[in-house]
Amino acid sequence: MKDYLIRVITTNKEIRALAVKSTDIVKEAQERHQTTPVATAALGRVITGALLTGSLVKSGDEVVLKIEGTGPAGKIVADANQKGEVRGYIENPNLDLYQTDSGKLDVAKAVGAGELSLTKIMKMKEPYTGSVPLVSGEIGEDLTYYFTASEQVPSAVGLGVLVDTDLSVKAAGGFIIQLLPDASEETIQMLEDNLTKVKSVSKLIESGMTPEELLEELLGDMDYRIMALKDVEFKCRCSRERSFELIAGLGKEEIESTLAEQGEIEVRCHFCNNTYTFEKEDVESIISELEIVENEIPEVDTEEIIFEKENNK
Ligand SMILES: [Zn+2]
Repeated sequence: MKDYLIRVITTNKEIRALAVKSTDIVKEAQERHQTTPVATAALGRVITGALLTGSLVKSGDEVVLKIEGTGPAGKIVADANQKGEVRGYIENPNLDLYQTDSGKLDVAKAVGAGELSLTKIMKMKEPYTGSVPLVSGEIGEDLTYYFTASEQVPSAVGLGVLVDTDLSVKAAGGFIIQLLPDASEETIQMLEDNLTKVKSVSKLIESGMTPEELLEELLGDMDYRIMALKDVEFKCRCSRERSFELIAGLGKEEIESTLAEQGEIEVRCHFCNNTYTFEKEDVESIISELEIVENEIPEVDTEEIIFEKENNK
């Protein structure tokens, strides 16, 4: 079964729900960043959370989910768009093995206290960021709190990653359930009962449960209408061309000293860990362009002086 996401609304219009299987995506993130188990779980949950949240925004918009905790994990960032493309990184991919008393990977301990922020990047509008303090560092609970506190939408979020003994990813997935304004007491009670039954999302995904079946666990026998059903993937927007443009931003002096010290310039993408290497001849056009720009500065000055003189006449 490939990774995909489903977004539905119940026919009584009381609940909006999303579920995703993200096993292959988290597997790719683990391989790209060479994360140790706790880092895999933390990053995988943030990536899965971003994927789900990215499906709640309008077409063309994007979200950036950021966890900034005081724990050894450091910053964890994932961005996703409405097309189901996601990418992400964790500042410290080599976390030690933190385990809870029951032997589970202790993501909360790795994340520590801090803040969760969600930025919505919208077309034709200024980006909007909402943030909340971390309530547990388990990511799913923190995202639940974000929706309730920052967006005033009562929600339940479940995110899970199951790591195998050989460090690879066995299963990953998640869900978001949101109460719409017309939700009845009866619906809320039924939902609460069902939520307590769903103990581990990743174990359900591992058992072969599809996102639709996961929603059936949560929504019981409520009928729903499918609003979106789409494939999701790990996809980064970096490229050799973009990296080349970044080099120009370093300035002539920095480019020349890096070339002198290292013989080449390496640009590494945080999000996907790809590296782009540029030799001296690759960046010669940048250097000569920067030379022209730097030589142009005195000309601008003279024009200004002439302008001032004319004003003083
Ligand atoms: Zn990249």
